[in-house]
Amino acid sequence: MRILLIGPPGAGKGTQAVRLASHLSIPHVSTGDLFREHIAAGTELGRHAHTHIHAGLLVPDELTIGVIEERLARPDTERGFLLDGFPRNLAQAQALDGMLAGFKSRPDAVLDLEIPEDQVVRRIAGRRLCRQDRTHISHVDHSPPEVAGVCDLCGGELYQRDDDREATVRKRLKVYRTRTAPVVDHYQAQGLVTTISAHGQVQEVLHRALDALGRGRADAAGTST
Ligand code: ADP
Repeated sequence: MRILLIGPPGAGKGTQAVRLASHLSIPHVSTGDLFREHIAAGTELGRHAHTHIHAGLLVPDELTIGVIEERLARPDTERGFLLDGFPRNLAQAQALDGMLAGFKSRPDAVLDLEIPEDQVVRRIAGRRLCRQDRTHISHVDHSPPEVAGVCDLCGGELYQRDDDREATVRKRLKVYRTRTAPVVDHYQAQGLVTTISAHGQVQEVLHRALDALGRGRADAAGTST
């Protein structure tokens, strides 16, 4: 299955993407994570991406499309993938359509996570990531760690992403409205989009997403949140 997960920052894309990909046994491909790996490794691409990410702007298309082309060329994506954070503008959507057309394919489904903007700012301000495993995400109010600053799951150090500061979040929301929302229209015209409320507990949103993909609730039993 080839799935695209779209939604504003703070909608919980990363959290849901990890769980959905594991349910569906397909790789989770996140442009944000790929960039953060480059930044941590100190590559040239990472340095370039960081200036844009830090400012709350999109990383230029030639870098982003290149990163995705390289990732989707790896053999683990042959049986499908879940794209999280790509495409984020129309040029990227067209580039992806072109890449998939090369395999005589197209996305099977586009999930559009919806959340009011005032909730986004509150969610993101309290979000903390684990340095040891970026899929371990906690929140100072909704899922506080037992020991402040320490990941409950692995003992890693919790930190705030530098683009999660309020002013940057507001900039990212504006970029989402102007650049990414048209991507939803692009796939809507192809009848591929299901809009899902991102409101509520992680597990509830996951059930909605699995239902939308025709993979029912029984299938989601036993998933840890
Ligand atoms: P979020 O969805 O919360 O913004 P991500 O981890 O998906 O977080 O992305 C972090 C940042 O990485 C974005 O704000 C943007 O600067 C950059 N980025 C991620 N995906 C793309 C993309 N497809 N095109 C351009 N920039 C991107």
